[in-house]
Amino acid sequence: MSVFEHPDFDHHRQVVFGSDEASGLRAIIAIHDTHRGPALGGLRIYPYASEAEALTDVLRLSRGMTYKSALADLPLGGGKAVIIADPRTDKTPGLLRAMGRFVDSLGGAYITAEDSGSSEADMQIIAETTAHVCGLRRDGIESGDPSPFTAWGVFCALRSAVRHGLGRRDLEGLRVAIQGVGHVGEHLARHLHAAGARLVLTDVNRGALTHLAEELGAETTTPETIFDAEVDVFAPCALGAALSSDVVERLRAKVVCGAANNQLASPEIAERLMARGILYTPDYVANAGGVIEIAWQRRDDYRREAAMSRIEGIGTTLDEIFARATRERRSPARVADDLARERFGRG
Ligand code: NAD
Repeated sequence: MSVFEHPDFDHHRQVVFGSDEASGLRAIIAIHDTHRGPALGGLRIYPYASEAEALTDVLRLSRGMTYKSALADLPLGGGKAVIIADPRTDKTPGLLRAMGRFVDSLGGAYITAEDSGSSEADMQIIAETTAHVCGLRRDGIESGDPSPFTAWGVFCALRSAVRHGLGRRDLEGLRVAIQGVGHVGEHLARHLHAAGARLVLTDVNRGALTHLAEELGAETTTPETIFDAEVDVFAPCALGAALSSDVVERLRAKVVCGAANNQLASPEIAERLMARGILYTPDYVANAGGVIEIAWQRRDDYRREAAMSRIEGIGTTLDEIFARATRERRSPARVADDLARERFGRG
């Protein structure tokens, strides 16, 4: 397993492997870029089948954080950490404290936060051994869970995408299909419902789905048929790689905008979407609300309303990306990548 030759290496500044015999910690921290500031990114705890799989994941995720923070105009670089472990059975205070020491050894070049497999309570334990951790509950700050902020950002992104893709200024009667009504998808569904949109929802967790659909008067469909729904907007809010070439051919929606990371199964899918006349909202622009709020928490003058209004800026950034994409006849995904690279000095 070579790091420098890895297809996702992309000139990472640092890739560090850490272990601790007593707690069984096996972890990787990847720092992609620090031009704009320290590399902030979540800690994923997952039972990867191999070290190679963990390396690929951490490299892709950390690179994505550089792009996300640059386009959100935050004074942050991009990084990510993974622990190779099952969060349900292997997560112990000893393991988390050892992870804190590992984070601390990088002297603040990497700042950790919650991600899948890690929780706000885990961040409290990590904070016992390092100060380089975000997303802690503090007096006057209610957050910890970034999902409501992420969902608000996706909602603002969707309004921009609908203006550009459908020429509509309001969401009344707009039909939106949401794939995955978990932490972010549920909040997004509520915002859309409040704005008068008509929803088609799906989730592999049928219990939560039925409950939410009844409350919002939404239709439901199966995870296999959500792509065929007769809607204006498709919102992927479940796992990554939802947009494969097969799925793109099936979509009825004219706009794609959702919370999931890495929505395109491969980069060329961006051009397939364009060829079908579907406006694609770059995922890392739309889902930056959580990291924007976390960045605000690092300031002494934190105010929830100020963070929310900063998140609304996602819509303005997208207005610029969509306009440039139209002018240059390119996919918004490519335009966003170029703009991000200009902002972190690799343009
Ligand atoms: P979550 O796990 O709470 O929700 C995901 C939901 O999708 C779950 O309810 C799950 O049952 C459902 N699901 C899984 N596979 C599915 C399938 N094939 N079809 C339909 N539903 C399926 O996660 P979340 O925190 O809501 O995040 C959703 C997505 O947004 C993830 O890709 C995540 O990486 C991304 N994201 C989240 C945040 C955040 O603040 N939570 C920030 C940025 C990006």
